[in-house]
Amino acid sequence: MTDVVVVGSGPNGLAAAVILARAGLDVTVLEGQPTPGGGVRTLPLSTEKVPESAGLLRDVCAAVPAAAPTSPFFAEFNLEARGVELITPEVSYAQPLDGGRAGVAYRDLGRTVERLGTDGQRWRRLLGPLTAYAPEVAAISLSDKRSLPDGHPVRLARAGAAFGVSTGLLARWWGDGYWRTEEARALIGGVAAHTISPMPSLAAAGTASYLGSLAHTTQGWPLVRGGIGAITRALVADLEAHGGRVITDHPVRSPKDLLPARVHLLDTHARVAADLLAEPYRSRLAGLPLGGGVCKVDFVLRGPVPWADPEVRRAGTVHVGGSLAQMRRAEAEVAAGRHAEAPMVLVSDPAQHDPTRLVPDAGLDLRGPTTVGGPQGDLRPVWTYAHVPTGSTLDVRAAVEQQIERFAPGFRDLVVDALVTPASRMADHNAAYPGGDIAGGMVSMWRMVARPRLARDPYAVAPGVYLCSQSAPPGPGVHGMAGLHAARRVLRAEFGVRQMPSVRPY
Ligand SMILES: Cc1cc2nc3c(=O)[nH]c(=O)nc-3n(C[C@H](O)[C@H](O)[C@H](O)COP(=O)(O)OP(=O)(O)OC[C@H]3O[C@@H](n4cnc5c(N)ncnc54)[C@H](O)[C@@H]3O)c2cc1C
Repeated sequence: MTDVVVVGSGPNGLAAAVILARAGLDVTVLEGQPTPGGGVRTLPLSTEKVPESAGLLRDVCAAVPAAAPTSPFFAEFNLEARGVELITPEVSYAQPLDGGRAGVAYRDLGRTVERLGTDGQRWRRLLGPLTAYAPEVAAISLSDKRSLPDGHPVRLARAGAAFGVSTGLLARWWGDGYWRTEEARALIGGVAAHTISPMPSLAAAGTASYLGSLAHTTQGWPLVRGGIGAITRALVADLEAHGGRVITDHPVRSPKDLLPARVHLLDTHARVAADLLAEPYRSRLAGLPLGGGVCKVDFVLRGPVPWADPEVRRAGTVHVGGSLAQMRRAEAEVAAGRHAEAPMVLVSDPAQHDPTRLVPDAGLDLRGPTTVGGPQGDLRPVWTYAHVPTGSTLDVRAAVEQQIERFAPGFRDLVVDALVTPASRMADHNAAYPGGDIAGGMVSMWRMVARPRLARDPYAVAPGVYLCSQSAPPGPGVHGMAGLHAARRVLRAEFGVRQMPSVRPY
């Protein structure tokens, strides 16, 4: 019998596995898919018209690991020392508006302030203190919400104060009284919309404060050279170097699919974890409401997205939703279970920052009845997803194209083809995304604490069983911190180990 079995090889499952293996335990990870990584995978992109042999790669889920550089787990794990190259776009995120205008969040706070004109100093007052204390803001945001994070107490207190002021202020005034320009309003709204929930809310304001502060740090909102899957390869390599293993193609649909172990960790959605437990533990997890859904649309393009405002082309992430009022309407529709006519869409064109993502189209036969017009050039993957009602079966490619075309005239002419994954099919490639809920459950201020339920220890979900996924604090994102918090408890409670092992490269 092995010491520990982890179900699921997402960043949280692998972070937990790495820590436990480094503590000297025998660790086996069971992964339902043919490849490890969950939300952090890069796989060949093939569509009806573009064969896999073309060599295009797509980030299946996450593409922009904004939380990774300041995550206490990844900071120590040290991705760059393991050959994972984080690319820092000059513009962390941008928000195109009608009429060729755009809000632009440069990594450089001063440049952002300058471009925002009358709202510049307001932006500095809001984001400046958060950025100055970004590591502490991250430590608080990524904590288990039960204990004080590591860090200097005075800096933590200042970061907490800046975070509280900014979150309270945004939740109260962001659309109306605070900002003067549509650019600033829309920039904040686009970041807040990452919660996939109605705006304004405390959770959306907290997300805007946290992610907004990261945008102006040294590494901003990075991309990963060659695709985000490099992070998973580094985690698996470390696990294997310390005696652990990942068994792929091993879905755990019922307790009989589990391998025997002293302790089981579940890196999956609370609702999926519930099905593996007996009562009364099952219903305690099943109560976490599902979050909003997404439909993923991976485009193959013959050139860069022709954003009307050239500054938007420098952005690693583009929030496509128009003005704050338009985004609020779209998110309200989705929360009410309806498809928005002009949905919130997130876009990343990684080849703008990473030439390794380009492939020559020379050898491809794209002519004939399936030929799409447009200028010749290298092919590139363009990553997008749209917010849709949970469980939606709709292919929203047309709505996504329309939204992008609105701010990037000529986009449609560059599209060669697209691969669409409706929300209802997201679980086919990751069981942790039921109905297309990519956040492991509803994101609200209450549910960031009572996640998966209100409990002193949210990770220990049954005797010898721990939840280590984004369905537990600190919630969604590529940070590995739910894995770290769960592993810490496993070491203490199950193996009597109080000292966390180092995860530094060696
Ligand atoms: C389209 C999309 C875009 C995103 N964009 C970003 C982004 O840009 N930046 C960002 O920070 N985050 C992004 N995210 C969110 C991010 O991917 C997740 O927050 C993160 O991956 C959660 O990590 P995790 O380890 O908790 O779970 P996951 O990464 O979801 O991993 C869970 C793993 O467990 C496996 N599994 C689940 N159930 C079982 C079972 N019963 N048996 C066996 N295996 C099982 C799954 O196959 C999967 O490998 C995005 C997600 C999606 C889907």
